[in-house]
Amino acid sequence: MASKRDYYEVLGLSREASDTEIKKAYRRLAREHHPDANPGDPGAEDRFKELTEAYEVLSSAQARRAYDTYGHQVPRGSGQGGTPGGDPFGGFQDIFETFFGDRFGDRFGESGFGSFFGGTSARAPSRGGDAEVEVEVTLQEAATETEREVKVQIVRECSVCSGAGGTETRQCETCGGAGAVRTVRQSLLGQMVSTQACPTCSGRGRIIIVECENCRGSGRVAEIVTRRIQVPAGIEDGMSIRIVGGGHAGERGAPAGDLYVKIKVKEDPELMRDGDDLIHRMRINFVEAALGTEVEAPTLEGSRPVRLEPGTQPGTTHTLRGEGMPRLRRRGRGDLKVVVDVMVPSRLSSEQRELLRRFEEISGEETYNNGGGESFFDRLRSVFR
Ligand SMILES: [Zn+2]
Ligand SMILES: [Zn+2]
Repeated sequence: MASKRDYYEVLGLSREASDTEIKKAYRRLAREHHPDANPGDPGAEDRFKELTEAYEVLSSAQARRAYDTYGHQVPRGSGQGGTPGGDPFGGFQDIFETFFGDRFGDRFGESGFGSFFGGTSARAPSRGGDAEVEVEVTLQEAATETEREVKVQIVRECSVCSGAGGTETRQCETCGGAGAVRTVRQSLLGQMVSTQACPTCSGRGRIIIVECENCRGSGRVAEIVTRRIQVPAGIEDGMSIRIVGGGHAGERGAPAGDLYVKIKVKEDPELMRDGDDLIHRMRINFVEAALGTEVEAPTLEGSRPVRLEPGTQPGTTHTLRGEGMPRLRRRGRGDLKVVVDVMVPSRLSSEQRELLRRFEEISGEETYNNGGGESFFDRLRSVFR
């Protein structure tokens, strides 16, 4: 290969150029030298490739550090010939982002893009994983804004070695501490440059001499942390509260994942939830139903007296407005529906049986005539409207 030009020279920049200057210079020159913009100029393609290679290296902090240290002669680790799972098309992702902005990424999706270009770049340390924890609250707690403490096991950066993995380390000589190595290879599309995590130090940039006992060299430790979370009033069973950055630590300074607190609302023995409404099944016996009675209906805050008229039918519903659940992140509350269930005796003494027979003898159809009111099913339907 002919002697290569210095990357800074290719982009017309000084060695102190900022990231923005590098990007700007590349954009301007790439537009100027793009083969499509120079039809019939055989040199354009080479100039464009040279520019792209220079930009690819200088726009990556790690690759730039390695280049500043070693120039074009980035040393190779022993026996390294094409890292499996590496990125054969290297910095194309960056370059497409430069041209197309976010639209391109959106269209292909992160994974689609990665598979199209043969795996995501090893340069970018990955974001930490999300953590999930479940919290059980009572219906009463779900009805008010509550604060809960949750214990969650997450992976954090080791505090003893600050994520280095060792209490004593030295700079990796393969990558000069940059954590990345750059390779150039021929492919169907021409010369391709790729930057990969250094195989000697796995991208850390340092070699462990004395392994950290706290994390056994991994740089990360699983810890149980306690977090206080606010559970908003009106939360429903199965909903999750997301705490940004509350998940597992990312690799080498990458952002942490999120914590999802999944809410389990315990079933209440008295109050059944139907969205923002609550339903209570009020059991009265057939004599109370016939003669009328006053009952105490349980509410979220205690109880409320409810007057049941003589001749109350099964399925009769009393709606207590505003006694239901608070509406999540909205004003107001749902209703509490008190649905009457009439108990019919199942074990009668001979005396009771006799009294009921006598009652039956003196009763006619008019005894049961409730004025052609709603049917049992109409009443039930009104509960679950
Ligand atoms: Zn450690
Ligand atoms: Zn290394």
